[in-house]
Amino acid sequence: MRIEAAFVISAASAKDLPRDGLAEIALVGRSNVGKSSLINALVRQRIARTSAAPGKTRLANVYRVRRGTSPAFHLVDLPGYGYARGDRGELEAIARAYFEVARPFQGRDRGAESPALPSVAALLLVDARHPGLPNDIEAWRWLHAAVDRAAIVATKIDKLSRAERQRATKTNDAVFDAPVLPVSAVTGEGLDELWKLIDQMTRR
Ligand code: GDP
Repeated sequence: MRIEAAFVISAASAKDLPRDGLAEIALVGRSNVGKSSLINALVRQRIARTSAAPGKTRLANVYRVRRGTSPAFHLVDLPGYGYARGDRGELEAIARAYFEVARPFQGRDRGAESPALPSVAALLLVDARHPGLPNDIEAWRWLHAAVDRAAIVATKIDKLSRAERQRATKTNDAVFDAPVLPVSAVTGEGLDELWKLIDQMTRR
C-alpha cells in the first residue's frame, strides 16, 4: 500500500500546531524507547531522526501521513521522558503540555463549539525488554484517564527470546489493563497490526 509521509513542523508551543483539523496519533514513551525508529518503519522513510540529541525543548514534532485510501492524519512525536528511575512527573509535564494545554478539547470533551479541533489518540510506547517500569505504568494511568483513545505498544520485540516474550507478556498483563501490541522496527513484526490500530484510532 502506498504511504505518503512528510515532516510538518517542530512545534515549540501550541500556536505552531497545525489547525487543519486532521486526526492525530500522539506517540509517547521514554527516551530511547524506539519512537523515531518506529515512525520511520511505519512510513518506510527516514523522516524521524533516531537518537537525536536530547535536551532541546520542544512541544512536539508533527508529521503528516497518508496510507492508501485512508484519510491523512498527523503523527505527533512528543518528547521522551526519563529513564527507569527518578524524573517523577516528567511525563505528566510533557503530556499535560500537549493533551491539556495544546489540545484541550480532544476526546470526550470535544464540543460542538470547537468543530475544527482534531480528534487526538495516544500510543504509549514501552520497551519490550523492560516490562512494567514504574514510570511507564504511571504514564499509562495518566494517558488512559486523560485521552479517550489510548493504546500500548511494546517496541524492540525482536530482541527477546521466546521465553523472554512469555515473561514480558505476563508482566504486561499484570500491570496494564489493556492489551500490549508487540512490534519491531527492525523485522517489521506487528506493523500491519499497528496500522490497523491506527486506522481504528483515527476514524471518527
Ligand atoms: P527514540 O529516542 O525513542 O526515538 O529511540 P530511537 O528510535 O532513536 O531508538 C533507540 C535505539 O534503539 C537505537 O539504537 C535504535 O536502533 C534501537 N531500536 C529502535 N527500535 C528497535 C527495534 O525495533 N529493534 C531493535 N533491535 N532495535 C531498535
